[in-house]
Amino acid sequence: MSLKTANLGYPRIGARRELKFALESYWQGKSGEDALLATAHALKRDRWLAQKQAGIHFIPSNDFSLYDHVLDMLVSLGATPERFGNDEVTLQRYFEMARNSQHQSPMEMTKWFDTNYHYLVPEWSRNLSFKTNPGKILDEIKNAEDLGVHSRPVLLGPISLLLLGKSVDGTDPLNLLPALLESYHALLHSLYKAGVEWVQIDEPHLATDLPVPYRRAYGMAYERLAKVPLKIMLTTYFEGLGENLDLAFSLPVSGVHLDLVRAPQQLDAALQALRPQQILGLGCVDGRNIWACDLDKAHALAERAARAVGEDRVVIAPSCSLLHVPVDVRGEDSLPEGLKPWLSFALQKLEEVRWIAGGPKSFPAAFADRHRILQERGRAASACVPAVREAAASLQRKDFRRSAPYPERREKQRATLRLPLFPTTTIGSFPQTTEIRKARAKWRKGEMATAEYHAYLEQEMAACIRVQEEIGLDVLVHGEFERNDMVEYFGEQLAGFAFTANGWVQSYGSRCVKPPIIYGDVFRPAPMTVCWSSKAQSMTQKPMKGMLTGPVTILQWSFVRDDLSRKDVAFQIALALREEVRDLEAAGIRVIQVDEPALREGLPLRKAAWSEYLEWAAAAFRLATSLVSDATQIHTHMCYSEFNDIFPAIAALDADVISIESARSRMELLQAFREAGYPNEIGPGVYDIHATRIPGKDEIEQLLRRALEAVRPEQLWVNPDCGLKTRNWPETVASLKNMCAAAQALRQEYASVLD
Ligand code: GLN
Ligand code: ZN
Repeated sequence: MSLKTANLGYPRIGARRELKFALESYWQGKSGEDALLATAHALKRDRWLAQKQAGIHFIPSNDFSLYDHVLDMLVSLGATPERFGNDEVTLQRYFEMARNSQHQSPMEMTKWFDTNYHYLVPEWSRNLSFKTNPGKILDEIKNAEDLGVHSRPVLLGPISLLLLGKSVDGTDPLNLLPALLESYHALLHSLYKAGVEWVQIDEPHLATDLPVPYRRAYGMAYERLAKVPLKIMLTTYFEGLGENLDLAFSLPVSGVHLDLVRAPQQLDAALQALRPQQILGLGCVDGRNIWACDLDKAHALAERAARAVGEDRVVIAPSCSLLHVPVDVRGEDSLPEGLKPWLSFALQKLEEVRWIAGGPKSFPAAFADRHRILQERGRAASACVPAVREAAASLQRKDFRRSAPYPERREKQRATLRLPLFPTTTIGSFPQTTEIRKARAKWRKGEMATAEYHAYLEQEMAACIRVQEEIGLDVLVHGEFERNDMVEYFGEQLAGFAFTANGWVQSYGSRCVKPPIIYGDVFRPAPMTVCWSSKAQSMTQKPMKGMLTGPVTILQWSFVRDDLSRKDVAFQIALALREEVRDLEAAGIRVIQVDEPALREGLPLRKAAWSEYLEWAAAAFRLATSLVSDATQIHTHMCYSEFNDIFPAIAALDADVISIESARSRMELLQAFREAGYPNEIGPGVYDIHATRIPGKDEIEQLLRRALEAVRPEQLWVNPDCGLKTRNWPETVASLKNMCAAAQALRQEYASVLD
């Protein structure tokens, strides 16, 4: 058996983050446009050559972007936001839209489905006009051609594009569809004239719960696109097609790609629905995770498909674009012993695609090796720490519940903490100055001794505590100076986590993240934060908050084992954090905050799967926190999200206090808390820490008054929207002083309530 192979998209940032450095140097004015374009050109070239060398049949073009592929698509269709004007999109204008402009705010950025990639949100308005602008795509096609690669350009499809955007003037985006389709049509026509045979059109929304009008719009949209004699590979990913499966295959397209990693069960229905002239793309190598593929399993799927519809109608591919994984595992030489063969990054995944397509007869060694690796991995990962498995297996209901209901806890906490009405606090981090980052870099390189580094951090911590006392905050924090990143800091101290040297994944523009890899059973070999927190507590009479990152956030921002369920891994992390919570409490810490900013982003794409997720996510949080005594106050913090959707889960955390982003939405989310009669305490953020502006006392007071329309005075805390690590000290001090003054003013007014 020998099947065709495809790739749907390749990482753009470069194995050594070349694009990042070129972009930043260009933005800082250190290098010119030519240098940036030369780097981009070299990167594209390397990517194509790598894919060609890997023997991939359908190699994508137009999957590269200098910033974001959604913005690129808008540029190609002439559909960029009206407020940026109608002129030609030069590089300068492109970056103005993407990141900063003298005259207006850049385009909004939001998460690309359930990934950690952020795209720029299209802005739909009534008078938006379209004008096809195929230059970038044609250039890429030509560049690829020069390297002997007859590429398959990638476009984002019209319906998904509309759904990814937002209406800025109340216009129904669907009203724009006819004009948008004309632009798509013209674009496809230019591709056809340039000799393109196949195009990949991505419609990820086909794998989501589609609003009915959009569902209906698919037919007419693809009828229009099919007027150009090009072969369309309709590409879906991140979930199964579900109820949209028949719709997808009924469209006038020459092929449909399915994500068989997330949704292997859809293969049979797809084989039924496949029409005679269509081919089927089998996404059977995980484009979202970094584990070596089970070749036998994937090959079995491929064989089943080939037997049903014929070898020439099956194409093997990664499940989605490889944008979401790092480039190459070969240089990773500092991983824990034995881990490297378990891993597969973009380049290795292409190899896997080819092996699967060729089958064990063509690549017997690859299949035999993989069999052995997977067996070893299974043995090693589960034999790792039986105690972890036992602890998880013997959990009981009581392990997930505080010993008393909130009203009782509240009385005990009041008695020990003796906080004023409208207590003030911050979310955890204080400014991470260049000096701190420099010291950390030196320490990491071994140029600064640990004792010296710690002494320095302690000195920063002491200063930070003094400042908080002077400002008059009620519940203090130690400042998180010892942390580079809220997940990495814990991952580095927990067993079961590994860190790569170059496992970068693009988050947005030039920003990359290096997610830790959870490869073994997770446990806590030693306390992680207790010494910092207790040291900090010893420096003040005020309560000091212990600061932890929650189990769901750690899970969400890591590459997670695929041989255990996400729930099981979350519970393992929660059990490790539970020990930390216990030790913090034993060390005299009376307030412990467990941050869960990523709780919402873990939501599955399909609504039907939400409740199951939310249930175990909230359970993991409670598992981590519920063993403390009634008098110990558990806080949590959330940001970057729409909370209304997940309100019941927020309540199910049963945190004594939640601090939550809300300054930008002017406290609107509190309505949900009011309607549900939420009993616990809440600190709706009173100022946006992303803005450099210093909020005035009066505006904060006004926001607090608004909050008091929704919650009772004794429920209300006063805090910023999020941590302060990206701010500078003068801004921070000025803002917090105003915040405390606002709380003070309200306190005087409400003085009688507590008595
Ligand atoms: N405690 C963290 C901080 O203050 C919370 C960060 C976050 O919510 N993203 O930095
Ligand atoms: Zn936050």
